[in-house]
Amino acid sequence: MDRNGIPNSAMVIVAHPDDAEFTMAGTLALWTRAGCRVTYVVCTDGNAGTQAPDMTRQKLAQIRRSEQRAACARLGVQEVIFLGYDDGQLVPSLRLRRDLVGAIRHYKPEVVLTSDPTRLFGRDNYINHPDHRAAGQAALDAIAPASAMPLLWPEAGDPHRVHQVYVYGNDHSNVWVDISETIDTKIAALREHASQLEDWDPTDRIKEWSAEAGQEQGMGYAERFRVITLVQPEGDD
Ligand SMILES: [Zn+2]
Repeated sequence: MDRNGIPNSAMVIVAHPDDAEFTMAGTLALWTRAGCRVTYVVCTDGNAGTQAPDMTRQKLAQIRRSEQRAACARLGVQEVIFLGYDDGQLVPSLRLRRDLVGAIRHYKPEVVLTSDPTRLFGRDNYINHPDHRAAGQAALDAIAPASAMPLLWPEAGDPHRVHQVYVYGNDHSNVWVDISETIDTKIAALREHASQLEDWDPTDRIKEWSAEAGQEQGMGYAERFRVITLVQPEGDD
């Protein structure tokens, strides 16, 4: 971790292509600019996310994977792993947990960012997607304690301890990241998900949310997280 609290390596674990762009991409763009190596793990292909009558799951999965890769390119994220689970059917199963343990042990991220599995409602007009909750739950379960346990799924790699978890969407935020420098990059990355946005321009909405978060800490635009520190910086090995 550098003196601005930016880790050397980070892993994003989300349910769908576009989840990270909506929520945490300003932070990711800031971190990759500072030299952080970021890896995405996208649990589903988002292959049910359409109302288009002539679309198939297979075709949509391809579109959404390529949109996610384009968004990652804008953010400076080079590596994206798709676990290939079906959209709308994600559950925090042992199989998913083991897949995530394998990814964590392989890439050895200092920080993992994921969504809050306890978030059921958003404001007064949104019920959080069950896939988002499932991805967050499986991610947290994979991080602690599974990834660090040598006798648990030894075939999934050598144990690794994640130092910090950045949870998005928790009401008890304790870290605000100033994304004023990268909000335009975040919006550009989000716009790569054209199959989801159609004619909608997300600029105003993203700016409104980010300004609201920023206002709490006297920042222009911010993303806020509940950060759980599992390994103190002094304990770096
Ligand atoms: Zn989603």
